[in-house]
Amino acid sequence: MLDLNGKNALVTGIANNRSIAWGIAQQLHKAGANLGITFLPDDKGRFEKKVRELVEPLNPSIFVPCDVQNQEQIEATFATLADQWGKLDILIHCLAFADKEGLTGDFSAISREAFQQSLEISTYSLTRLAKYAKPLMTEGGSIVTLTYLGGVKVIPNYNLMGIAKAGLDMSVRYLAAELGPHNIRVNGISAGPIRTLASSAVGGILDMIHHVEKTAPLRRTVTQTEVGNTAAFLCSDLSSGITGQIIYVDAGYEIMGM
Ligand code: NAD
Repeated sequence: MLDLNGKNALVTGIANNRSIAWGIAQQLHKAGANLGITFLPDDKGRFEKKVRELVEPLNPSIFVPCDVQNQEQIEATFATLADQWGKLDILIHCLAFADKEGLTGDFSAISREAFQQSLEISTYSLTRLAKYAKPLMTEGGSIVTLTYLGGVKVIPNYNLMGIAKAGLDMSVRYLAAELGPHNIRVNGISAGPIRTLASSAVGGILDMIHHVEKTAPLRRTVTQTEVGNTAAFLCSDLSSGITGQIIYVDAGYEIMGM
């Protein structure tokens, strides 16, 4: 049975009720996990208010700001986990960013600044968070990140994020190899295209969604709940033999040659 009772789970990346991280947090909660939620702080505190109201029904015992570009906030987040929980079992890394210039037009035009920023937020952050999670995962653990096919094959306009996801996929494997002896598993979920705040920045995302609906074996895209269910499985003992893998939750689109 899928049972996460007694497990402490930190979930990053909730922006609103369309966020994949929101789908994941709901399924972890349903399976009995105790939740900690981070949000991306902004000057006016709007994100904080919105996310706080959204997650309230899930009763998170920790709710803290964590901009992954901010080392102090990362350290403060894990200090709070150490203080209040003592141990961490689950880390959900469900965040990414690329400036709009990196998600449309010529790939060769991507600026150094946009490249560095995107790779720092979308790729390096997994490694950084894993570093701080490791000493708290004293009874083993599961780290799950979100990736996309555009890091393996060329998808129109995914451009800069494709490079970030390729690096993320490889980070999953290197982290899995390092952390395996500590019984910490690291896996990625490659989700099919879903309408969210982040995906709306990718040029032509609706065309991509329609293409998947027409050509994927299941003739549809996937939902945040379906991704959340797979994340809950990857965080549970039911997947105890799986690490270093990228699992496709994409209605089968990845197998197609068109
Ligand atoms: P979303 O906009 O709901 O989530 C993106 C999150 O990243 C937001 O919560 C945002 O606050 C956070 N974020 C951005 N910069 C940050 C920073 N500096 N520090 C901390 N958090 C930061 O969109 P989503 O589609 O749910 O994206 C979640 C993950 O899923 C991303 O990694 C995305 O690439 C991946 N993904 C999305 C799709 C899709 O089609 N939506 C498909 C495959 C993979």
